[in-house]
Amino acid sequence: MSFVITPPRPAAVPVVGGGEFPVTRIYCVGRNYAEHAQEMGFTGREPPFFFLKPADAVLAVADGATGEMDYPPLTKNLHHEIELVVAIGTGGRSIAAADAPKHIWGYAIGLDMTRRDLQGEMKKQGRPWCIGKGFDQSAPIGPVHPITKTGELTRGAITLSVNGAQRQKGDLSELIWNVNETIETLSQAWALQPGDLIFTGTPAGVGAVVSGDVLEGTVAGLGTLRVAIR
Ligand code: MN
Repeated sequence: MSFVITPPRPAAVPVVGGGEFPVTRIYCVGRNYAEHAQEMGFTGREPPFFFLKPADAVLAVADGATGEMDYPPLTKNLHHEIELVVAIGTGGRSIAAADAPKHIWGYAIGLDMTRRDLQGEMKKQGRPWCIGKGFDQSAPIGPVHPITKTGELTRGAITLSVNGAQRQKGDLSELIWNVNETIETLSQAWALQPGDLIFTGTPAGVGAVVSGDVLEGTVAGLGTLRVAIR
């Protein structure tokens, strides 16, 4: 194989303890905590739905480092959404929920950064969310922690603060569709691939950030993800 242009370096995320996790696809689950669904104007347990970000939308932040995200163009309402990210090690299609843990390589803390004004406009017009969700650097993510070290993550606090003030707080046990159910549903629609990341949804309290803000996200057992907006 001889490429006619130089292929870009594959997107990747550092792994705690060494090495890098290569990123294939980035799936995101919408409205997966009840209180957040309510703040977005919805109620009830609707079936999970998904959108994607490009793999190279990751902004990989090494353990203990502060990621630097440029304030993106076209928006005046850049929102934070703190999320548990599941890293798929073994692909598959139509994976049963009970078998899902065998497909998980690890976990990370991620931010589903959102140009809320553009997403809202697209919703209103019935158009795709891509411009609101899938822009450059829209997926800041901390290092991947192997499941062999963390065990299965099913409960524990998930929080986000901006400049030291808490904005979002929830618990992984409050996910409407838990990680195993999400993998079951997602793998019916797409054959999951090694390297896929799944952003599992955000708890209530989403809001805007501006240049100069410092975001600190935590998930119990995964440390802290720190990102500064330039
Ligand atoms: Mn989200």
